Amino acid sequence: MPRDPLPLLHSTFGFPGFRGVQESVVTRVLAGENTLAVMPTGAGKSLCYQLPSVVLEGTCVVVSPLIALMHDQLRAATAVGIRAATLTSVDTDQMKTIARFRRGELDLLYVAPERASNMAFRELLTQAPLALFAIDEAHCVSEWGHDFRPDYRLLRPLLDHFPHVPRLALTATADKVTRDDILDQLGIPREGMIVAGFDRPNIRYTITPKDNTTRQIADLIAETPGAGIVYCQSRAGTEKMAEALARSGRPTRAYHAGLDPQMRARNQADFVASEDMVICATVAFGMGIDKPDVRFVAHAGMPKSIESYYQETGRAGRDGDPAVAHLFWGAEDFAKARQRIGEVEPARQQGERVRLQALGALVETPGCRRKILLKHFGDDAPDNCGNCDNCLNPPGAVDATEVAKKVLSAVFRTGQSFGMGYIEQVLTGVSTERSLMNGHEALGVWGIVSGDELPLLKPVIRALLLRDALRANDFGGLEFGPGARGILKEHEEVSLILQPKRERRARGGRGSSAGTVANPSGDPLFEALRAKRRALAAEASVPPYVIFH
Ligand code: ADP
Ligand code: MG
Repeated sequence: MPRDPLPLLHSTFGFPGFRGVQESVVTRVLAGENTLAVMPTGAGKSLCYQLPSVVLEGTCVVVSPLIALMHDQLRAATAVGIRAATLTSVDTDQMKTIARFRRGELDLLYVAPERASNMAFRELLTQAPLALFAIDEAHCVSEWGHDFRPDYRLLRPLLDHFPHVPRLALTATADKVTRDDILDQLGIPREGMIVAGFDRPNIRYTITPKDNTTRQIADLIAETPGAGIVYCQSRAGTEKMAEALARSGRPTRAYHAGLDPQMRARNQADFVASEDMVICATVAFGMGIDKPDVRFVAHAGMPKSIESYYQETGRAGRDGDPAVAHLFWGAEDFAKARQRIGEVEPARQQGERVRLQALGALVETPGCRRKILLKHFGDDAPDNCGNCDNCLNPPGAVDATEVAKKVLSAVFRTGQSFGMGYIEQVLTGVSTERSLMNGHEALGVWGIVSGDELPLLKPVIRALLLRDALRANDFGGLEFGPGARGILKEHEEVSLILQPKRERRARGGRGSSAGTVANPSGDPLFEALRAKRRALAAEASVPPYVIFH
């Protein structure tokens, strides 16, 4: 019989007790049962194998996807007196580690998944007793997970080679499809799954359309003290963002896989040590970083899926103190995502589409964000969490169905090849040489949007792009998508959310950005519109709120 784990929990780890589902997971593991533990970031997954590794005879082999992650874990384990080692390509003392393993002197042995297919490694594992296989970040085994690693598929034959060694898979984020897939891939029975609640009540979720993202994030940083992460869409984006935000005076760093490894390590270490640093990073940053006092996570663009969003925002507020998660999105994020879906293998397209729709529902909802997140993971939630933008500041809605129909008609009548700016010109009757040449001024849709409908025009186009009623082709031309029919023929409603306008702080030297209601710079789709907006700026009356969708 294994020893009672509680005294060790106190003496070795210094914790007063188990947290959440840790106890049930540890109990199963000590009983030798195969288990999948689904627990949010910060819930304490590592303890679920570290504690058994001390209690049980033999070594616990921990599979982990990143060398940096293993070394962090190794430091933490060694610090509390656990006998641990890593076996990676960068370790210079491999022979020593192997000898310690053979002598049964290791509680934990961290390895990368690609080891699993190495026959010498498999042979090594037969030379000393094994207590457990722990598979950390187990969603990597599933193509449905947000971070599929083909190497994780090599694990199953290894696990099956040691049928009497229990397996414990751990992950923070797995929706139902991913969970089922992990169980199948790793040979864990359905009743072996233990799922912790997903709510992170101290995180305040806010989701806003882009409107000069850099400035929006600068504003967010100005009002949010503490260290934070800004997730950017590209490596170049992280550097540009870092440069722009550094002007605020806050210490700022960039982080991405293309940086020189020393600089990357230094930036990460500086961030972990800092109380007010802003790190502008690609999604490569964060996995396994143990910094409990991250006060905000901002997204300068759509995450890949709800799972990614939950995982990335989950890095905020792991100490339980209030933290902020602020996502800035644009319709073009959805257009790009759809384009990517078109490029993946056909068998996966439907699943990817469903995931994108789930993200659309999250950003589009006038209701509680937390409820949508939690429901996505199968948790129950009240209608009003009181700690997201929509619950704190309920948006109103306006029916924009008529304007939506006008936009679709104009796109159709002009032959589904003109950009957003041109469609706006046609609908508002702004005469140009081009519209004359094209003969579009004679169309029935010429100048049919005016008055109260004017400020709705752009958000409607964004809403139509989001719903896939409109699509932008490679040249920025708008054409019908599958969602157009329902609006034109089946009386589907298009309603827009009215968000109370935030006061902007005065900025020296910069003009008011009122009137640039939306959209990032550099996107050809929006360039024409921006030009026209400038032209109309003088006469346009700016509504007392920002309308978005
Ligand atoms: P996860 O891998 O689930 O994101 P970690 O294993 O990195 O989480 O643990 C997150 C933090 O919680 C760590 O600082 C860890 O020391 C702490 N922790 C884990 N279990 C407990 C516990 N039972 N009581 C108090 N703190 C705990
Ligand atoms: Mg972990």
